[in-house]
Amino acid sequence: MAASAPFLGWLDELAAIGGDPEHGWCRFAWTEEDRKARDWFAAVAGSLELEVEQDGNGNLWAWWGGPGPGAIVTGSHLDTVAGGGAYDGALGIVSGFAAIHDLKARRGDGEPPHPIVVTAFADEEGGRFNLPCFGSRLLTGALTPAAVLGRTDVKGNSVSDVLTRFGLDPMQLGDDLDRLARVRAVVELHVEQGRGLVDLGAPIGVATGIWPHGRWRLELTGRSDHAGTTRLVDRRDPVVAAAEVVLAVRDLAAQLDMVATVGRLVVSPNTPNAIAAGTELMIDARAPTDHVLDGFLARLGEVVDKAAGEHGVEVESHVDSRTIGVTFDEGLNVRIEHVLTRAGIATVRLPTAAGHDAGILAAHVPTAMLFVRNPVGSSHTPSETATVDDCLVGVDALAAVLEDLAWR
Ligand SMILES: [Zn+2]
Repeated sequence: MAASAPFLGWLDELAAIGGDPEHGWCRFAWTEEDRKARDWFAAVAGSLELEVEQDGNGNLWAWWGGPGPGAIVTGSHLDTVAGGGAYDGALGIVSGFAAIHDLKARRGDGEPPHPIVVTAFADEEGGRFNLPCFGSRLLTGALTPAAVLGRTDVKGNSVSDVLTRFGLDPMQLGDDLDRLARVRAVVELHVEQGRGLVDLGAPIGVATGIWPHGRWRLELTGRSDHAGTTRLVDRRDPVVAAAEVVLAVRDLAAQLDMVATVGRLVVSPNTPNAIAAGTELMIDARAPTDHVLDGFLARLGEVVDKAAGEHGVEVESHVDSRTIGVTFDEGLNVRIEHVLTRAGIATVRLPTAAGHDAGILAAHVPTAMLFVRNPVGSSHTPSETATVDDCLVGVDALAAVLEDLAWR
């Protein structure tokens, strides 16, 4: 198969919006950077003679054929985290357009029997309002408009005001099951966000599923006092209790072959010569199965109770989010593997612990994901990368899969 000629140019054009390799990228949803990325999306779609529409939830759909039933959806997201990389989300959209470019070269301009759509799902990272997979969750009804409209960003701007200023009507938010019913399959291509494919020695992989994950917030309340005059036995120190929790999170994760992180730890009043009054921890935990994740939470709960008792600290815990595990469509995965084998593209299977729009859509439509090897294995940082050769294998693979799904 021929390497897609415009792929690199498109990737560079998108990478020129909202960042650079030194400082990282920041394309939060509903910002000037998002606007520029959406304009870029429309321009590339226009150059391929695709029909672009924006749905009520701010997702972009670039149609080759249709917008009739039986659509094959690919694409990903244009937004990034703060200080993110140039490939997360972007690679899926650029690869989708490049695959259509190659298919048009191969099959001519006539419309495919089943439409092919490149989508850009709105605010996948949730960087601004802490509402990840905003566009796909609203589309499927996993998130209701009532749950989002009052949310504010750090500057106090509400979702409702921000959408209105961006030109979207907040009253149009909400599930769109008619649109979903027009989708026959979803295949999202994404840069891998770990080292699975490096270890397996494969340029691309087929995702088996997404690990269940969640975020929990613990508020530990003790008693503030003088760091010099308060005897150790008289202290109610929430930082010491928090330290035990942090270590337990790590130990339990290692024991259960999962990952768990305390990435946010807020000490108040955060004074060098006073025992703290309170400590807030955010625990992010992801496990191969819901059963393992439940076991982790039960054992962590025992540690928290014990640490609180020993240090005279009161505990309040909150579930910030909990997402059940996703298993991608086995029939679609087998079909994809046949297609790739026929195309001479070696592939492997692997799971991921990162969330994606494809994971949301999988509950409604046969859905699959292709990962492209990430040689450094890091993501959500400017060092996130993929080689040109591997990216072009990804484009070839996506084109072969879309062709099989759209023409058969
Ligand atoms: Zn992503």
